[in-house]
Amino acid sequence: MPNLDLILQHNEAFVEKKEYETFLTDKFPDKKIVILTCMDTRLVELLPKAMNLRNGDAKFIKTAGAIITHPFGSIMRSILVAIHALQASEVFVVGHHECGMVGLNSQQIVENIKQSGVKQETLDTLSHSGIDVPKWLKGFNSVREGVEQSVDIVRKHPLMPPGSLVHGLIIDPRTGKLELVDDGHTYNSMQG
Ligand SMILES: [Zn+2]
Repeated sequence: MPNLDLILQHNEAFVEKKEYETFLTDKFPDKKIVILTCMDTRLVELLPKAMNLRNGDAKFIKTAGAIITHPFGSIMRSILVAIHALQASEVFVVGHHECGMVGLNSQQIVENIKQSGVKQETLDTLSHSGIDVPKWLKGFNSVREGVEQSVDIVRKHPLMPPGSLVHGLIIDPRTGKLELVDDGHTYNSMQG
């Protein structure tokens, strides 16, 4: 049975039994927190538990590797909306050990794309339009580097309120232990 059917079946019972009642909250994050983290499956329940975040506490933005690829892309836009429209005031960038985006072989992904049925012609067209697909798909060299880069983009963003708190952390995907990369105060001395 496809997942869709299973999900819809479960959903009917979920709503009928009013299981949603324990999750009721509004759109504003009670703890005024925005979390940018990875889409890694191990973090789905672990990360909120490890950070003591419940439904309604924080805005969650997930992307492969917690990477912000462009300062005016959708990730940064989400952070800005959370801050300027939804009362969030503190940003946490949370990378994790064993992230699939570390040392990601984007050439291999391009091969997989071709294997999946996408024509070389399409890739060529993109290339001729100035889209460097392998570069666009590339990950980062270390989790730390990825977190630092994202923190840097958020912190230096011209539309962020001056002096905003932007923290960088790395979570262990097994134990949930958090390691501080950048606490948002001693940024310069933490470099190198
Ligand atoms: Zn990851």
